[in-house]
Amino acid sequence: MICAHCGTAIADKALICYRCGNATTEPRVKPPAGGSLFERPRRSRLPLVLVVILIVLAVLAAWVLGVFESQQSSGLTPDNALRVFLDALRDRLQRIA
Ligand SMILES: [Zn+2]
Repeated sequence: MICAHCGTAIADKALICYRCGNATTEPRVKPPAGGSLFERPRRSRLPLVLVVILIVLAVLAAWVLGVFESQQSSGLTPDNALRVFLDALRDRLQRIA
């Protein structure tokens, strides 16, 4: 048989041309339509990531504001940092409510 791509004489039962590497017949299993399985867009995960980032930023902002507010009245140590933060957060929530 003759390779349809490069014209080289190859064996009749050859599946691919030994010279150019092209298949002698149409591929039996065709690639799935719509691109590779590894390149599918993952839109469903994006909103969750954004929510988590926003929550982290909000907590950080509240923590920084609480620290700056309470530093004037009491010294901040690792022991009471959480309590001071919670007190400041509670004050803010009471002010909002
Ligand atoms: Zn060939």
